[in-house]
Amino acid sequence: MWQDYLFATSPEEASAAAARLGAAARIVAGGTDLSVAMRNGQNEVTTLVDVSRIPSLQKIEEQGDEIWIGAAVSYARIIESPLLREKAPLLVQAAQEIGSVQIRNLGTLGGNLATASPAGDSIPALMSLGAEVVLAGRRGRRRVPITEFFTWVRQTVMEKDEIIEAMLVSPQPQSSVGVFMKHGLRRAHAISVVNAALLLDIQDGMVADARISLGAVAPTVFRATEAERALVGHPLTPSRMEKAADLAMAASRPIDDIRGTADYRRHMVGVLVRRGLEKIARGEKPALMPPLNRPGFTFVPAPTEKEIAGGDRIGLTVNGMKTTLIGVRGKNLLYALRGIGLLGVRDACSAGECGACTVLLDGRAVTSCLVPAPQAHGRVVETVEGLSHGDELHPLQEAFVTHAGTQCGYCTSGFIMSAKALLDMYDSPNEELIKQALAGNLCRCTGYYQIVEAVEAAAAKMSGRTGGR
Ligand SMILES: Cc1cc2nc3c(=O)[nH]c(=O)nc-3n(C[C@H](O)[C@H](O)[C@H](O)COP(=O)(O)OP(=O)(O)OC[C@H]3O[C@@H](n4cnc5c(N)ncnc54)[C@H](O)[C@@H]3O)c2cc1C
Repeated sequence: MWQDYLFATSPEEASAAAARLGAAARIVAGGTDLSVAMRNGQNEVTTLVDVSRIPSLQKIEEQGDEIWIGAAVSYARIIESPLLREKAPLLVQAAQEIGSVQIRNLGTLGGNLATASPAGDSIPALMSLGAEVVLAGRRGRRRVPITEFFTWVRQTVMEKDEIIEAMLVSPQPQSSVGVFMKHGLRRAHAISVVNAALLLDIQDGMVADARISLGAVAPTVFRATEAERALVGHPLTPSRMEKAADLAMAASRPIDDIRGTADYRRHMVGVLVRRGLEKIARGEKPALMPPLNRPGFTFVPAPTEKEIAGGDRIGLTVNGMKTTLIGVRGKNLLYALRGIGLLGVRDACSAGECGACTVLLDGRAVTSCLVPAPQAHGRVVETVEGLSHGDELHPLQEAFVTHAGTQCGYCTSGFIMSAKALLDMYDSPNEELIKQALAGNLCRCTGYYQIVEAVEAAAAKMSGRTGGR
């Protein structure tokens, strides 16, 4: 577990700290990969260098004919960004397939790239968008095309003193259609068995440009260039699509693992590429999910090492009260909150997968087991304890009781906090939105129907309607 925590205020400061501290230090952004790795004892880290409060890493903006997407921008912000929804919807599609709402509120593009998993879901979309990775180190900045960034499974060209500052992408041409597809073992929280990002520019009925990037079927995500070539200069006919799908399968070099055999993965490459091309040929515009939490992002400046006593002391607002927590060195937010008696914040999986520890951080649902406690410094935390007033339960709590949305009760506070984030955004969310908002919460007693009904009933009561279901 980490001993020291420092917030970098610039890429230069982060890279100098990484170089000075060497193997003992790790960069942290959203913490969703690193927290799990540290819990599993995969690395001996003593110092965490937090890059999430460096202004350039949090920017999404147009710069000339490119879009700058800071490395610490979360998936949720990608989904919410009007600029990216309009000009890079392929990336938005990929972001909405990642993890669950809690993971999307924390996880970042920079973390996905640095982890360099061949199954990373943002990577095929960035590759088809022709992204360049901006690396910042002691010797300055350099731009690396994303096709040259990954060298092997979990390996990249990044030097030890370098951090990822941003991704630069070109806007999708107006005449193009992008489709991101992910095949996993379940709808949420699934590592891709295969993923694919297709971007086709079709002009006068002919394919003018084709980009097909495939993930989880080789040591790194790659462009299926032969398949792309088979499409360019031709109309999108069934035989062309079939040929491209066959060439994409032939280019794959998958492995057998717990999620699927190599043969199955190769077969699924053909299925996804064919399906994607058929969607594009039918002129189907992929649906973009509405934001699930209140959008908006407040940049909180980095505190000094002294202010947070190297990560041992943090100041935050908890359930409306300004609070100082002392002795949080090495802790995650889950245990920092439990340490002050907020026992509604439950630990079950410690890996961000069950949602029992869900709290709201600046109004967004997050799994507090993945949040290093210092990340909450200067921010607003809400837990289930803040919902009721004396004996008066919050409508969500009341509805969980009256609709039998709670059985053993262990997961209930997490469900309620995820639902609270949703109802802070929507007066009357439909069933699909409720299911999406709750996809990151597991109930081992299998009371999902009642839970969805409880949220509908609470929404109805809160907005002055009668009923629910
Ligand atoms: C329950 C769960 C579900 C998940 N589901 C998915 C999924 O569906 N699809 C998917 O692709 N991933 C998934 N992930 C993995 C993870 O959420 C993503 O890889 C995420 O993008 C990591 O970003 P982060 O900011 O949290 O990274 P962190 O955990 O903060 O960091 C990860 C690694 O990147 C390094 N790093 C972070 N930022 C930088 C930077 N700017 N420069 C240099 N190095 C940096 C860190 O040192 C660390 O080695 C899931 C994880 C969990 C726990």
